[in-house]
Amino acid sequence: MRAVDIIIKKREKKELTQEEINFFIRGFTSGDIPDYQASAWAMAVLFNGMTLGETADLTMAIAHSGQVLDLSEVVPFAVDKHSTGGVGDKTSLVVLPIVAACGLPVGKMSGRGLGFTGGTLDKLESIPGYRVDLSIDEFKRQLKEIGIVLTGQSLDLAPADGKLYALRDVTGTVPSTPLIASSIMSKKIAAGAQAILLDVKTGSGAFMTTLAEARVLAATMESIGDLTSRKVQTLLSDMNQPLGYAVGNALEVKEAIDTLHGNGPADFREHCLVVAANMLLLGNRASDLDATRWMAESALSKGKAFQKFRQLIVAQGGDVSYVEEPDMLPKAKMVSVVDAPRSGWLAQVSARIVGEAALALGAGRARKGEPVDHSVGIVIHHKVGDHLDKGQPMFTIHARDKVSLDDAVKRILAAHVWSENPVKPLPLFYN
Ligand code: URA
Repeated sequence: MRAVDIIIKKREKKELTQEEINFFIRGFTSGDIPDYQASAWAMAVLFNGMTLGETADLTMAIAHSGQVLDLSEVVPFAVDKHSTGGVGDKTSLVVLPIVAACGLPVGKMSGRGLGFTGGTLDKLESIPGYRVDLSIDEFKRQLKEIGIVLTGQSLDLAPADGKLYALRDVTGTVPSTPLIASSIMSKKIAAGAQAILLDVKTGSGAFMTTLAEARVLAATMESIGDLTSRKVQTLLSDMNQPLGYAVGNALEVKEAIDTLHGNGPADFREHCLVVAANMLLLGNRASDLDATRWMAESALSKGKAFQKFRQLIVAQGGDVSYVEEPDMLPKAKMVSVVDAPRSGWLAQVSARIVGEAALALGAGRARKGEPVDHSVGIVIHHKVGDHLDKGQPMFTIHARDKVSLDDAVKRILAAHVWSENPVKPLPLFYN
């Protein structure tokens, strides 16, 4: 078999066999197939697509490029979740403790932020000492002992994905449904959970900007789940405006802790309860969604979810006093509240612009490996559909200097679009 023949076959819009896909991914992972051939192949896939069968074969080939965990060795049934990424998306920090507090083990390997979207690992590292580099043995031990793990992607899991993603990033081949679906699902399959809840975001602050694209990605990942014997459920959620109010690492941890105490922004709390209830249903903790929703709500209101979060932080070496006293979390040098320049209804609070402003403040990274500033970010005070009076506080910027503060103020003012007439709030989820 020759890599060039596989590239030509895909260029000619033909269906690749499982053997050809395995050969290509194995060769690429070992370095026998060079980056230029993998780039040409990825571009052919981007233009010509893949059948569901090919996408499932690609997913399994990438998953088996490294170790594939079997969590049934340590817990009877484990769930995992994945969000396709967004702005202000601190959901895992609240949902995982809720689910684990309801007795369903949940082990998750998260990523870092890249570009304008945030990453759970960067948020957690606002808590001094928190380890995101657990070994596979530590992952399994902690899952067995306390039923919750939230760590980084181990090098041994799906190494082909890391290599292919880096190549796609610089060759314009990220926005391909089969490549995105196989990238996400291969990591989830390698991480060993029997059931996976996928939160597919759509809107200006998401990968999939249109609902139609998000639907195709969700359906593709559900089909991969069927073909690979994993229970997969997808939710389609809005990412036109930030989720909750806070965007920026320590600010988001604070908002998540507030939510775990039963407070927090209404949209974020509701989003977390829906995701948690669906995960609990996937894990058969009750027979219907009303019952699992009730379980999730009571885990929040009785403080059990917060206690689980506390236990997670202690288990992974974090200084728990920062969780008990969130005011100790990193604080920016400059904090400035900006008032509404006019009266009216909010028609848009662009997640994309808010995400880009947070990145420019230093909360995110433009390139892999760059450090982030945990203290900086933005807190919006209002959502689409709210009415504001001129002079009312509209948002707060947390910055490290005056230049970046002024730049963020301009950007966030532009993120808010006004209407003279009442505007309907945005839905949290789409059918
Ligand atoms: N997230 C992933 O993990 N992979 C992609 O290709 C896109 C988003």
